[in-house]
Amino acid sequence: MIEVFDSRVARVGELLVRRALPRREHRTVGAWCFADHMGPSSLAEGVDSGIGPHPHIGLQTVTWLVSGELRHRDSVGSDQVIKPGQLNLMTAGHGVVHAEEASGTASTIHGIQLWVAQPEATRHGDAAFEHHAELPRGEIDGARFTVLVGSLAGVVSPARRDTDHFGAEIVVEGGTATRLPLDRAHEHAIVVVEGAVRVEGAVLQPGNAGCLAPGLDQLVVDALAPARFMLLGGVPFASKITMWWNFVARSMDEVAEARSQWERGFSDRFPDPCSPLARIAAPPL
Ligand code: MN
Repeated sequence: MIEVFDSRVARVGELLVRRALPRREHRTVGAWCFADHMGPSSLAEGVDSGIGPHPHIGLQTVTWLVSGELRHRDSVGSDQVIKPGQLNLMTAGHGVVHAEEASGTASTIHGIQLWVAQPEATRHGDAAFEHHAELPRGEIDGARFTVLVGSLAGVVSPARRDTDHFGAEIVVEGGTATRLPLDRAHEHAIVVVEGAVRVEGAVLQPGNAGCLAPGLDQLVVDALAPARFMLLGGVPFASKITMWWNFVARSMDEVAEARSQWERGFSDRFPDPCSPLARIAAPPL
């Protein structure tokens, strides 16, 4: 059975987003703990994203664009423009700071930012960043897909992965039916970025999302229109997480400690990413 729920509309800097995860009923799908469908939002030349330096702990950010450009800067020294079809994967570990700036030219930002909760083995470790300009692609029943993380139908992404999870973008023509092979051990979420699809009798489109429990070895996706969607999956996450603001932890004590360290300024834990944008203050606990 598919469970369908509405995303919540929120604002991140200048970008309008539809937040599909987390939900009260679905804190995580595999290790995926956050999904923001961003835009389409146009950024005029000279207008910035408003997403200045802010900290993260205990998670990976997975940034994927359909249109536009963003400039990522972080406290491990990265300065990377991301374009459609490329992956930015930042691992926070014990602490990282980044900014997501407009690239300098006018563009319409449309894409998705996902977070992956880190397991116990790596969440206290070092921060890191990977940019993948090219990712492996495949085709099933005429549907074209790109694997961001993990694997789908034997196509394997080279991106870092700390748990058994995967994420892929799938593009289908209108009026087609696609049979996607799944891993029975995985639970799944579908987030539609463009168009509309029907899955297990439910219509999914931008603004809602669907979740599927483990136990399925395939999924039939009927495209009601040309569509682009993200398929996320993974083994149910082993730990109960505490998410607050930009932090993924295991208790509110850990969150409070990270918050107070951030509020004291840049530090060994949260170094300066050298962005011209204004630092973002944490909200009250
Ligand atoms: Mn961030």
